[in-house]
Amino acid sequence: MARIGIDLGGTKIEAIALDATGREAFRKRVPTPRGDYEATLQTIASLVAEAGAGTVGVGIPGALSHASGLVKNANSTWLIGKPLKEDLERVLGREVRLANDANCFALSEATDGAAAGAEVVFGVILGTGVGGGIVVRGHLVQGANSIAGEWGHNPLPLPRAEDLPLRPCYCGREGCIETYLCGPALERDGGEAALDRYCERLARSLAGVINLLDPDVIVLGGGVSNIARLYREVPRLWERHVFSDHVATRLLPARHGDASGVRGAARLWQPV
Ligand SMILES: [Zn+2]
Repeated sequence: MARIGIDLGGTKIEAIALDATGREAFRKRVPTPRGDYEATLQTIASLVAEAGAGTVGVGIPGALSHASGLVKNANSTWLIGKPLKEDLERVLGREVRLANDANCFALSEATDGAAAGAEVVFGVILGTGVGGGIVVRGHLVQGANSIAGEWGHNPLPLPRAEDLPLRPCYCGREGCIETYLCGPALERDGGEAALDRYCERLARSLAGVINLLDPDVIVLGGGVSNIARLYREVPRLWERHVFSDHVATRLLPARHGDASGVRGAARLWQPV
């Protein structure tokens, strides 16, 4: 049975189908009908129809609220408050599994990507926004509130003079990690020292994750993850902030790059 994955992004919707051996049997990418919920459902339905028979997993910006079953925390705001799982199951005529896009990224990289074989993995997307996901022994940790790994909206630790005043975030809080570590923030923070400041902020922010979760591997994805210097500088800088004499956690770039979201979505179902 094929496993179909859908990555519902703010600008494009991508679909793949993995065959029984995990090989890609189908792949297609189309623009997202931004702002139009009904058209979003129809676009996903036609992609799934093209991909053929199989299980369907969907990676979404945001998460499904356990309390209401509705989408929450999505920066693609036309999805917020919609019963997306129910509606997709109705138009597709089959059960659908949904997960946050950063969770799908982490699952993909932990399964056959940069963190394959690692016991505890923290996957981070440093893109338009900042997301995170946790995979333990090959299993995605969703959490009691469906927000496990959502570290982008924790406050930036130990703010320095150059981090002040704390930046307002779209979520209504101030000083969120996302406002310092998303791609647009790095672009705005011009000048020679911008990347130095970025590495230091990322090191402080990831040190908090290491103290709490103690992952074997932290995998970075998203546009900013292409900067090679991060992988030399950040582990050097985080030593000072981690509560350990030595830090064994490895910081690695994603193996599947942009494709990890859709590959992880397909893997929300186990092979049968
Ligand atoms: Zn925030």
